[in-house]
Amino acid sequence: MAARILVAEDEEPLMLLLRYNLEAEGYVVDGAARGDEAELKMREVVPDLLLLDWMLPGLSGIELCRRLRQRRETERLPVIMLTARGEETDRVRGLATGADDYIVKPFSVPELLARVRALLRRLKPAEIADLLRQGDVELDRVQHRVRRGGRDLHLGPTEFRLLEFLMRSPGRVFSREQLLDGVWGRDTYIDERTVDVHVGRLRKAVHHDGLPDPIRTIRGTGYSFDETYR
Ligand code: CA
Repeated sequence: MAARILVAEDEEPLMLLLRYNLEAEGYVVDGAARGDEAELKMREVVPDLLLLDWMLPGLSGIELCRRLRQRRETERLPVIMLTARGEETDRVRGLATGADDYIVKPFSVPELLARVRALLRRLKPAEIADLLRQGDVELDRVQHRVRRGGRDLHLGPTEFRLLEFLMRSPGRVFSREQLLDGVWGRDTYIDERTVDVHVGRLRKAVHHDGLPDPIRTIRGTGYSFDETYR
């Protein structure tokens, strides 16, 4: 499964450049042009890595980073800070200690991509669990296997991503739109009913032998992985 990267950057050309190159590397990219917008997005979905501009409207990169470190869900989120050349570099070094790395603009895209790869690789064991387990459902991100009650379940690639997405935030209710963004990516043009089709398939695959159905439908709202289904 591709790592999800949130880019918080208010310079649109730079945002486009980053998005284009990160997507070309196979990452799932989401963007926010304001610090407060980025914060809200991370309350919805915690990305695997955050590229954070130091100077952002709404909420500065430094302040956002500080807040992220105070929340359990994001205290270890990999953060690369983007700073402009000459932008109080020493202070950045000091203040950006909450960030894992920082890179000075203008930067070369290959260098940035190398830093992103390095950070994801370094932090992956701790940050992205290879094995997600909720109740009797086990999802192995490395082997791309799902087991329930010791039996292998056969899921299509979309159902696998959907289950992984839901299992990463058990109990959380996602709207169809949030699922589209999170599983298919923000730039796909898929009808929201497609989500229902795939949830239906996922449910059929997971809900066998009369075992309780862990996927909960919240009428008029969306779906969640029910952490209390047992
Ligand atoms: Ca900026």
